[in-house]
Amino acid sequence: MKRIDVIGFGPGNYDYMTIEAVQALKEADVIVGYSTYVELLKKIFTEKKYLNTPMTREVERCRMALEEAVKGQRVALVSSGDSGIYGMAGIMLQVVQAAAAEVEVHIIVGVTAASSGAAMLGAPLMNDFAVISLSDLMTPYEQIMKRVRCAAEGDFVLCLYNPKSRKRQEHLAEAVDVIRRYRPEETPVGLVHKAGRADGFCEITTLDGLKSADVDMFTTVIIGNSMTYVRDGKMITPRGYSLEEV
Ligand code: SAH
Repeated sequence: MKRIDVIGFGPGNYDYMTIEAVQALKEADVIVGYSTYVELLKKIFTEKKYLNTPMTREVERCRMALEEAVKGQRVALVSSGDSGIYGMAGIMLQVVQAAAAEVEVHIIVGVTAASSGAAMLGAPLMNDFAVISLSDLMTPYEQIMKRVRCAAEGDFVLCLYNPKSRKRQEHLAEAVDVIRRYRPEETPVGLVHKAGRADGFCEITTLDGLKSADVDMFTTVIIGNSMTYVRDGKMITPRGYSLEEV
């Protein structure tokens, strides 16, 4: 059976890839992805054929993957983090279904930025949390801000993906204004920058500090709920265990 593996390769370095992802990448004849990710993977899987497209060409990238699979090539289509979270899994399935192609699509799970980022910060996602992308390329801006407001009102920890880009500088500050209606300015905020990469780091600030923080499209922002605190450099959202119990 002709086959495409849609692979989330985690935040970037080899250690964060699952064994299944590494296996599928090793078995692939051709690896298809967004140019930046292809450059990362070329350093690890040196002998492969690579095909890439720029960032906004997702449908084209999937058609390219399908074409290769139809030719009989074993294809790995890659996304950072998890391919099923703002990644390529959904559109790849849609493209194969629309073409009624006899190609099996396997979705191979990866470590998403929320998980790798949380691990660097401490344990900020121990209770209910909401993941929201601030990019309005696919979702209307009003809907994004409604979701931010509802999550803030519901006391969810908020995990923001795509917080800022060159063209989209204001969304984060506007989201902070919305969240401030429900949470105090000293609410802990974790910033994770390029998790899993050589130049990656994290820092902890507050909701007040977030507006002036250095944030870009390689940052994940985790905003604590009403219980979240910082101790000994770790951001912790308690789940409710009692330390008094034996
Ligand atoms: N599929 C990816 C998310 C893609 S959306 C995943 O599951 O992680 C792109 C956003 O993800 C970025 O703007 C950033 O907010 C976050 N992100 C992706 N890789 C990251 C990394 N290495 N470190 C921190 N944030 C990252």
